[in-house]
Amino acid sequence: MNGKSSKLLAAAAIVFVLTIVFMLVSGVSPHIYKKSEIVMDTVVTLTVVADSEKKANEAIEAAFKELRRLDRLLSFSDAGSDVSAINKNAGQAAIKVSTDTYELAKKAVEVSELTGGAFDPAIGPAAVLWDFKNKKRPTGSELKKTLPLLNYTHIVFNGNDTSIMLKDKGMLLDLGGIAKGYAADRTVDLLRGAGIKAGIAAMAGDIRVWGTRPDGSPWRVGIRAPRGSTPEDLIAVLSLKDMAVSTSGDYERFFIEDGIRYHHILNPATGQPAGDFQSVTVVNPQGVMTDALSTAVFVMGREKALAFIEKTSLMAFLVFSDGTTFTSANLRGLLENR
Ligand code: ADP
Ligand code: MG
Repeated sequence: MNGKSSKLLAAAAIVFVLTIVFMLVSGVSPHIYKKSEIVMDTVVTLTVVADSEKKANEAIEAAFKELRRLDRLLSFSDAGSDVSAINKNAGQAAIKVSTDTYELAKKAVEVSELTGGAFDPAIGPAAVLWDFKNKKRPTGSELKKTLPLLNYTHIVFNGNDTSIMLKDKGMLLDLGGIAKGYAADRTVDLLRGAGIKAGIAAMAGDIRVWGTRPDGSPWRVGIRAPRGSTPEDLIAVLSLKDMAVSTSGDYERFFIEDGIRYHHILNPATGQPAGDFQSVTVVNPQGVMTDALSTAVFVMGREKALAFIEKTSLMAFLVFSDGTTFTSANLRGLLENR
């Protein structure tokens, strides 16, 4: 949601963001190379295993170039993006978009259907009313007016010319809850295609690992303690091979007023920040799924979330508002509590 002005803030928050998911990369092997840049309004760290620095650098540079391309298409704030073109023409015209934008928006709506609307890429009109940087929140009546517009079933797709139209004037497509996971997937495809057999693509809290560390052991990905006194405080560590993991947390973009924490994961039914959790972590082979589902499960609230996790055999780690945790049975072998 944040524009270019937020990049400075993002830079200042680099330490926080990095430790949302803190990677314990083997320090012994000379074959691990790593680089961080700010892309998609977030700190992106690419880690690759390669047999030469030259090969690693070339692959990493190509991956960052691809990420900047995706950012230009998918950005909510960039006036030149596909998403902005769709939004400017809401209620008026269908806009032909790139395959990436088309496929990602379709995927977003699939997840909306799968989650009973807990994930809704039409969240835009409510999301723009919240200003976490300046601690400003909308009034109840301002939010209420947007509710009829938060409706993913009014995103119209035409596969013949890969065009998208928002049915109603005032609707705003926001792929912010799914774009980083998608970008992690594309990055891994690209790096694999360039012959890189293992590594980590970390878009802040949306991470995908592939292959193993040089010694054959799994990658280790930390989950930040949501109320930790320092960002280095971890609540758990995952051991992963060829998996994606995303964490959605109420500590990423938020402010506190009169003891109430207002954060950026919104319930499409109310336009208000979703309750019940401090953070939700989801593990799945695809980053596009972990990103959207961590947001969706967060929105569902405790009971619906537990039922959904059970029904779909989702690998998930939940930190409830009171600090207690839940680990799905199928994640227990991969997760170590701290
Ligand atoms: P982060 O961007 O911090 O990684 P998330 O992946 O959980 O966090 O996505 C939050 C972003 O997704 C918000 O900033 C907003 O743009 C968008 N969003 C908020 N609520 C929803 C929702 N219910 N469904 C889809 N997208 C949402
Ligand atoms: Mg998400």
